[in-house]
Amino acid sequence: MAQSNGDERPIVWFDIDNTLYSASAKISHAMGERIHAYFVSMGLDHDEASELHLRYYTQYGLALRGLTRHHDVDPLDFDRKCDGSIPLESMISFKPELRKLFEDIDRTKVRVWGLTNAYKPHAQRVLRILKLDDLVEGIVYCDYTVKDFVCKPEPEYYHMAMKKAGLADPSKCYFVDDNRGNVDAARALGWAHCVHFCEKGLEGVEGGKVKEIDNERSPNAPDNDIVDIADLEQLRVVWPEIFTET
Ligand SMILES: [Mg+2]
Repeated sequence: MAQSNGDERPIVWFDIDNTLYSASAKISHAMGERIHAYFVSMGLDHDEASELHLRYYTQYGLALRGLTRHHDVDPLDFDRKCDGSIPLESMISFKPELRKLFEDIDRTKVRVWGLTNAYKPHAQRVLRILKLDDLVEGIVYCDYTVKDFVCKPEPEYYHMAMKKAGLADPSKCYFVDDNRGNVDAARALGWAHCVHFCEKGLEGVEGGKVKEIDNERSPNAPDNDIVDIADLEQLRVVWPEIFTET
């Protein structure tokens, strides 16, 4: 169980990829292509690469976690060749209105953190391009240097996040993520204010497969109070209590 560091302000956790920028930037496509190329570089043909990529993503949450478990893959080499080689600077750009949204979050009331399944350099790079790096207190990321590192939506990941930020009370967590499974998992742990960022109709890539983004629930999905939004500006309406009064 996480312990409070004495700072009793709630934390607003933002997922980074496909949340702070639109899926229309097609960064998940670029990631999927590079991961596919990585599997092919291990000697697999294209069909085998696609099959294994999807299997590891489904089973472990991230292709890399299967690669480190079952193959002799250096996660830092993987990160350099995959996320590290994406020309992010030409794919996403600074959006003044997003910076304004972050500036309007009242820091006397809440703290703001990033919560990503990427490794730290990629997360920092995205935040720098978006000019949000000075408005985010810390980043919880998948630590590729740790053997069998955890990721969303595993409960251990959220516990690790709270521990890192020094927050003990899950009812003080605000969280927005484009992956519904990630927000469902947080909600199940008592994170009280969860929002699904859902750009319905756009395409994203998961486990190497192109998928149309939708807010349909699978039959065994938990029944909860999570709302979905298609624009982060809607957070001003959903969470009015965290913004400065204008
Ligand atoms: Mg995401």
